[in-house]
Amino acid sequence: MSNAPTLNPFEISQRQLDAAAKKLNLDPQVHALLREPLRILEVHFPVRMDDGTVKTFTGFRVQYNDARGPTKGGLRFHPEETIDTVKALAAWMTWKTAVVDIPYGGGKGGVICNPKELSQRELEGIARGFVRAIGRFIGPEKDIPAPDVYTTPQIMAWMMDEYSKICGYNTPGVITGKPIPLGGSLGRGDATARGTVYCIIEAAKELGIDLKGATVAIQGYGNAGYYCGTLMEELAGSKIVAITDSRGGVIDENGIDPEAAYQFKQQNGSLSGFNGLKTITNDEVLELEVDVLIPAAIENVITDKNAANVKAKIVAEAANGPTTPEADAILHGKGIYVIPDFLCNAGGVTVSYFEWVQNIGGYYWPIDQVHTQLKAKMVKAFHETHNMAKEHNVDNRIGAYMVSVQRVAEAMKLRGWV
Ligand code: GLU
Repeated sequence: MSNAPTLNPFEISQRQLDAAAKKLNLDPQVHALLREPLRILEVHFPVRMDDGTVKTFTGFRVQYNDARGPTKGGLRFHPEETIDTVKALAAWMTWKTAVVDIPYGGGKGGVICNPKELSQRELEGIARGFVRAIGRFIGPEKDIPAPDVYTTPQIMAWMMDEYSKICGYNTPGVITGKPIPLGGSLGRGDATARGTVYCIIEAAKELGIDLKGATVAIQGYGNAGYYCGTLMEELAGSKIVAITDSRGGVIDENGIDPEAAYQFKQQNGSLSGFNGLKTITNDEVLELEVDVLIPAAIENVITDKNAANVKAKIVAEAANGPTTPEADAILHGKGIYVIPDFLCNAGGVTVSYFEWVQNIGGYYWPIDQVHTQLKAKMVKAFHETHNMAKEHNVDNRIGAYMVSVQRVAEAMKLRGWV
């Protein structure tokens, strides 16, 4: 395989694995099995649109590896969804569940569609149609989807209801990220961001950075970006100086109120015009001189083209796959502390796990228990990664891979797969 820069997320995930495998002296048979997903399903299903016509939609579900437990991972509704993106995201879920040491494998799914152009009724049709199409493939003991880019608790509710109808009984454990009245967990809403902020707090301690009053820039203002803003203020006392969404955003050195900005975006559809602040593009936000940069949007935003211009001390990857391998090398060379995606954003799946445990046990936890146990998982995973990277003189991403790959490889060996 060529080593020329690539933006294909699956090739990127394989290159990252290869680097870790080399450092670990991984058994080549284990390595070969870990380079590919165990199972891939592609479905095409009909949905009746509001104008009465029937449209065929395409969806994917990838079960990457289930040596450590049922596959787990979100579903994206995105107009540019591709099988290679889903394969990469399913691989990253495998490493994500392993790094926080929860008893799952990794999976991911997606439907090619643009939620911004769909009515609620059409969205519901896609959610239910997709579940009917993949119904035999998923299940509480098999493969458990969750929300991701452009999918919501309401979409999870429709999917859980459709799956329950297929089974003939209520099955809350088939999907996580549900609304609270349907078996969702307290604390799932802000869990991804809360895990990110716990990691940033630990990283700052390691680097001797005082987060009180520290400056933060956020790219992406969906679930993860928004809660990163409010929680960096609340838990770390930091100042949000720039935020963007898919259409660009705003900057203010004196600090932006993350809650007010979110309300504005909800009402106006974008951040532009908020408080009359100076506008900023999605490229510019990555190059600001800030203490903490949080890419919280999509893949491949920090590349060999702009990595040299990143000036943050800490890059906390709340998004999946925001940094390419070439950019990783540049950031590492500059001494920038990267908290790699599958560690940094593992808080979401960790509370998904708590949700599933509560569904299966039929007993629901108070919010304090969710926060305490999430923090314990994140802090432990952070230090295991940090120490691994230090010990082997590699960047944190490879350090995190080494922790996870070892765990998955051990499970495969114990099962007698290799
Ligand atoms: N989609 C989220 C992620 O990428 C959450 C997955 C889950 O909760 O299963 O981690």
